[in-house]
Amino acid sequence: MPELKDTYPLYLNGKAAQPNTDLEVTDKFTGKLAFRTALATPDVIEEAIAGAVRAAEPMAKLASYERQAVLDHCVKRFRERFDDLAYALCVEAGKPIKDAEGEVTRLIDTFRIASEEATRNYGEVQPLDISERAKGYIGMWKRVPIGPCSFISPFNFPLNLAAHKVAPAIAMGCPFVMKPASLTPLGAIIMGEVLAECDLPEGAFSILPASRDGADLFSTDERLKLLSFTGSPEVGWALKAKAGKKKVVLELGGNAAVIVDKDADLDHALERIIFGAFYQSGQSCIGVQRIIIHADIYDRFKQMLVDKTKALVSGDPKDRHTFIGPMISEKEAKRLKGWIDDAVAAGARLLCGGGLDGAMLEATLIEDAPDGCDAVREEAFGPLAVLSKFTDWNAAMTEVNDSRFGLQAGLFTRDIHKVLDAWDDLQVGGIVVNDVSSYRVDNMPYGGVKDSGLGREGIRFAMEDMSEIRNMVIRRA
Ligand code: NAD
Repeated sequence: MPELKDTYPLYLNGKAAQPNTDLEVTDKFTGKLAFRTALATPDVIEEAIAGAVRAAEPMAKLASYERQAVLDHCVKRFRERFDDLAYALCVEAGKPIKDAEGEVTRLIDTFRIASEEATRNYGEVQPLDISERAKGYIGMWKRVPIGPCSFISPFNFPLNLAAHKVAPAIAMGCPFVMKPASLTPLGAIIMGEVLAECDLPEGAFSILPASRDGADLFSTDERLKLLSFTGSPEVGWALKAKAGKKKVVLELGGNAAVIVDKDADLDHALERIIFGAFYQSGQSCIGVQRIIIHADIYDRFKQMLVDKTKALVSGDPKDRHTFIGPMISEKEAKRLKGWIDDAVAAGARLLCGGGLDGAMLEATLIEDAPDGCDAVREEAFGPLAVLSKFTDWNAAMTEVNDSRFGLQAGLFTRDIHKVLDAWDDLQVGGIVVNDVSSYRVDNMPYGGVKDSGLGREGIRFAMEDMSEIRNMVIRRA
């Protein structure tokens, strides 16, 4: 079994630094101290931003093969450190070890994709001779790095969501300052450890857990040209309002829905929906929260869901048999338990689960939840799913859209016409056909509409945000 160190540094201008040990991070299952690391104060963040500004030109001048070599080194080291990385996530996030290994696999994929994309920064040649006055003129455009970037990541995927910002920044040639979540900073810190082994310009990266007062600089400092934030809608939209002239990308929360049609392969749908609703204790922005089931199969599928949910193994995330570990904190588990109790008090039926022990909340299914309750309308971000019934496909789509969020939706149907209608009419960043809302591959465009965000990640798409188009017009002499 790998072990954690007592203390970890932060990474300031590409090097390990230990200005203090003010941040104590707990093992989310035992509640005991797991390790200490530093909290960057405003002066440290200021130093990092100044370093990133100085590094902008040397980073932009790196050749694509040099950027690719950095990313390839990371892929190699992440493979070598696979067990360390998975264990770190398991401890700091309480993530069941199999999910933690899945996240490390995706981290490696994400850097591998970025390594390929580093050499594919194509532009376009554009004929401009659309009228007499432009005869003999030709246009060309290319992408140039936007400059120093600011990244803020959440607690639930400490490695791969940091990777979705860090890897495209390196591929594009942008220096960055990153603030990981204080609850789970270690994934990003280990990424810093690996990046520090590479030959990057000084100031190319800083990874800085930060206190709330210091964290403000990540959104407000005018020298930073892009803010890429992943986290809750409340914080994300508030930071955008403070971000001034910089470009802003927001990857926020949701209350994702799946529709199960009467012709669906129910065994397959069952397996995927249980996974989508409850993996990582439901703490995924695209986790299945609303399950909209055709009336003809409702009772049968409900029973299948209840039986499978009751059989889920919960407990110590370090145990390979565990499927449900703790939520990130007792406070969050109590918050969601309160939502379940409120829904039941308002008339919902509890089908299974609902029990609470510290940060461990049982996988819970409810049905007939009244429309206005938090369990339906807000982001559960925990092991809760709400069942409802439909008879008409359009009504099911209306129910999916009846939300202030719009990240992804899953559809289980064999009818291509319904699929195409959903692709047109669902107000989401993406639909997943014959799988759940939580399905994501790391090269696809990913993001949300409405309160769920602004812009897209997925390496190519993030690189577009991390760049500006620079045009050139040539007149034949
Ligand atoms: P959060 O908004 O509380 O925190 C996210 C990050 O913002 C953390 O690093 C936090 O320290 C930082 N932060 C908080 N206040 C700040 C401030 N005033 N200035 C600067 N930084 C600040 O979110 P969380 O609890 O860590 O994560 C859960 C949320 O993230 C859920 O809403 C979830 O849906 C969302 N999420 C979205 C995606 C996506 O890709 N769309 C992925 C994962 C999680």
